Amino acid sequence: MNIFVLNCGSSSLKYQLINIENEEVIANGLVEKITESISDFKYYRKNNLELEFELEITDHKNAIQLVLERLISEEHGVIENFSEIDVVGHRVVHAGEKFSGSVLITKEVIAALKENIKLAPLHNPANIVGIEASKKLMPKTPDVGVFDTAFHQSMPEEAYLYALPYDWYQENGVRRYGFHGTSHKYVSERGAEILNKDYNKLKIISCHLGNGSSITAIKEGKVIDTSMGFTPLEGLVMGTRPGDIDPGIIPYIMQERNLSIEEVDKKLNNQSGVLALSSISNDFREILEAAEKGNKRAKLAIDIFCRRVKKYIGSYAALMGGLDLLVFTAGIGENAVQIRSKILSELEYFGILIDEEKNNIKAKEAKISSKRSIVDVYVIPTNEELVIAREAKKVMEKYIEDIVKDLIK
Ligand code: AMP
Repeated sequence: MNIFVLNCGSSSLKYQLINIENEEVIANGLVEKITESISDFKYYRKNNLELEFELEITDHKNAIQLVLERLISEEHGVIENFSEIDVVGHRVVHAGEKFSGSVLITKEVIAALKENIKLAPLHNPANIVGIEASKKLMPKTPDVGVFDTAFHQSMPEEAYLYALPYDWYQENGVRRYGFHGTSHKYVSERGAEILNKDYNKLKIISCHLGNGSSITAIKEGKVIDTSMGFTPLEGLVMGTRPGDIDPGIIPYIMQERNLSIEEVDKKLNNQSGVLALSSISNDFREILEAAEKGNKRAKLAIDIFCRRVKKYIGSYAALMGGLDLLVFTAGIGENAVQIRSKILSELEYFGILIDEEKNNIKAKEAKISSKRSIVDVYVIPTNEELVIAREAKKVMEKYIEDIVKDLIK
């Protein structure tokens, strides 16, 4: 079964064609700057074919069409025709409370996703465009939606409710949803697999530290808390987002600086975080380099970022009554040796002891805790596309099973 995984961002498209039987990536790539006049098109095929060029791409539909043409092209293709694509798996950011698992996409599902646009105005529209484009280009191929929020739907009420007027939750959907669910699911399950322990018996904290960052506590197979909330603004300090702040700051600063809702929203989403603290970049590579050269604001940004992660690790360990496994993933979690080291310093009384030598690795699966550490600490590169492909397969198998059951009733 070949699964075509699509991850549509506001101006980008990530894709993979995966043979789900052996989980092999047959082709993958990235289209960036879709909304600009010239887009970057990257296509990689197994056995080392790499194509990177600039193209005029009008919109997401056009981008998907060009990717599909590449997949079947005589010179660079990997399949003969589209019938070799069995399912399209779509990453969708926000499913609200509607879906706690992956679903076959129908007209009703698309309508429900459209209703959730107000909850994820930056992400859901692009995801929907991707779904609609794929339905037009491959009308006979089923589409499955895999939601970032779904993994977190197992959270208890006491974790997802804010202490705000209750009708804000009932009538306006104001609650913690959590994001990066596909990534947290992958690395926590993979961690249990590496340890060869029962996922449903472990206490796990997974740290997804990238341009957007979040941390999740998973107890006995269920999410019991996660740092991102109603929107991806809450929680950890991020590239351009502040994470937790006093909500009283917003009305105060709007008045003081005469800012509109749109302006304050932009400040919080795009102009805060380590970018604002360092005044250098939202990219940790640049911040780390500047800190090494003695830049005080860069050092401060790193200190504040690490402090927040440490604070969450402590509170989540307390919530779960202990910790068996701590996992680092995403751009910073997988690559930034110094950041991991700083976060994990002085946590010995929690049973966490880092082995600095083992920690000196990038972008590969590795245990980084010392032999004396009670908690196992791992770096596990995330693989959201594989989770989407696995989910798409599961949904299709269930769908077929239900049809067969109906037939033999
Ligand atoms: P992601 O959102 O998961 O793609 O992560 C992107 C972020 O990871 C970048 O903005 C960088 O801050 C960070 N990153 C990637 N590679 C490195 C590295 N080698 N060292 C430090 N940070 C890195």
